[in-house]
Amino acid sequence: MPTYHYKCEKCGYEFEIEQKISDAPRKRCPKCRGKVFRVIHPVGHILKGSGFYATDYRKEDYKKKKATEKDDNKGKK
Ligand SMILES: [Zn+2]
Repeated sequence: MPTYHYKCEKCGYEFEIEQKISDAPRKRCPKCRGKVFRVIHPVGHILKGSGFYATDYRKEDYKKKKATEKDDNKGKK
């Protein structure tokens, strides 16, 4: 199931939700009931083939985080 990323226009709250492609998009913020819009991640390869799913983005993000953590540890030593 693809994961969609939403952001609230009103309070700026961001959340991710797993939805079937056939499901209707979310329209309301769970916090303030304001209007939300879907955030499309600006990743070039994401539109190619089945890689459309947000998991690709997350993997990259995870790698980046790991790298940052390593740098942090170095700094502490
Ligand atoms: Zn909100």
